[in-house]
Amino acid sequence: MMLGFLLARAGVRVTVLEKHADFLRDFRGDTIHPSTLELMDELGLLEKFLSIPHDKIDRLTGLVGEDRITIANFAHVPTRCKFVVLMPQWDFLNFMADRAKRHSTFDLRMRTEAYGLIEEDGRVIGVRAKGPDGPLEIEADLVAACDGRHSILRERAGLQVDEFGAPIDVLWFRVSRRPSDTAETFGHLEAGRMMVMLNRRDYWQCAYVIPKGGIENIKQKNLQSFRESVAAMAPFLRDRITEIRSWDDIKLLTVAVDRLRQWYRPGLICLGDAAHAMSPIGGVGINLAIQDAVAAANILVKPLREGGLTEAALRNIEKRRAFPTRITQGLQVLIQSNVINPVLQSTRRPKAPLLANLLRWFPVLQRIPARLVGVGIRPENVRTPETPVSPI
Ligand SMILES: Cc1cc2nc3c(=O)[nH]c(=O)nc-3n(C[C@H](O)[C@H](O)[C@H](O)COP(=O)(O)OP(=O)(O)OC[C@H]3O[C@@H](n4cnc5c(N)ncnc54)[C@H](O)[C@@H]3O)c2cc1C
Repeated sequence: MMLGFLLARAGVRVTVLEKHADFLRDFRGDTIHPSTLELMDELGLLEKFLSIPHDKIDRLTGLVGEDRITIANFAHVPTRCKFVVLMPQWDFLNFMADRAKRHSTFDLRMRTEAYGLIEEDGRVIGVRAKGPDGPLEIEADLVAACDGRHSILRERAGLQVDEFGAPIDVLWFRVSRRPSDTAETFGHLEAGRMMVMLNRRDYWQCAYVIPKGGIENIKQKNLQSFRESVAAMAPFLRDRITEIRSWDDIKLLTVAVDRLRQWYRPGLICLGDAAHAMSPIGGVGINLAIQDAVAAANILVKPLREGGLTEAALRNIEKRRAFPTRITQGLQVLIQSNVINPVLQSTRRPKAPLLANLLRWFPVLQRIPARLVGVGIRPENVRTPETPVSPI
């Protein structure tokens, strides 16, 4: 959506395909990072964007056993907004879609699922899709595969994937929120379990982290035992824990960390999770996907407007974004393997690791994770032009 908006805004004709009828998927995370807010500011959209109901978090806290630790404090990030916005991703996507639709060059097709590539002489020249009115073919100078971590287009393109393993999966469910509850979004780590709770105003979106493939074990113990585990992590949920009525209320989200060896082929580029599936650790995947889109738009506008898109331009996009992606995924895998997985496998109450204690003893160090989560490595700036909005 961000790439589509930036290109259309610069006068490039774009068709965005979305397989669902709306953006009401609740499993993509809700974080809008300071770096994305900076981009909204550069686009002149910040004020309007912040008028949509949202919550702000100025620090990330975690509970490791009985130790409460501030992991990141965003007060010093080098951006205008020194906080992370928590907003359901559908509100963000609807906002961007609404802005993009003001450009006659933008065409959003909902309920349209891409399932194949059209190729000619080894070059991708379009996509095959199923829309509400049946099958369709769309030809294009460039296909941008932004179809997430189960990307069908990258598979169809035959691009090779390196898997880095994720020892965790996530159980995703909601429980109502009362005005007397804390407003904090937080993570809690205990022997054998971890839970992160996102404050969505009238309900808590809960992410209960389990060892990979551990769902059958949990189901065998029965639902009441699972409810007990949840209530042990967040005791204030105990009085409404039966809102989890059956296993159908709980979605299993499989976590993957992978990266394409090469993100492009002539006529095709993969971006976001389609190029590099991110773990939820640190809540940075949305940030990376947006940064990919901005970097891609900066490089693509000229050749797409003037003709003559080369493979070198696609290579430059990969070159620019591969480094921040490698480092970020490396850190995610490190945390998964050295902090989260050992705690999930353990029966002893965890203690804050040395690194967490350092953050507690020397709060100035909290600026480092704040910078990594809030801004990321090699932040992008919008360099694409804006053509006047023409009547549609
Ligand atoms: C449990 C979990 C929690 C997470 N929480 C956070 C968080 O809090 N913060 C954060 O920053 N990151 C989080 N992440 C990571 C984040 O969700 C991803 O990194 C991010 O969504 C990637 O964005 P994307 O646009 O590349 O892909 P997606 O957000 O997956 O978007 C892909 C889009 O393409 C559509 N689509 C898919 N296939 C097709 C097709 N064939 N044709 C047409 N449309 C198609 C999908 O419907 C979807 O709208 C989390 C990940 C997981 C697994």
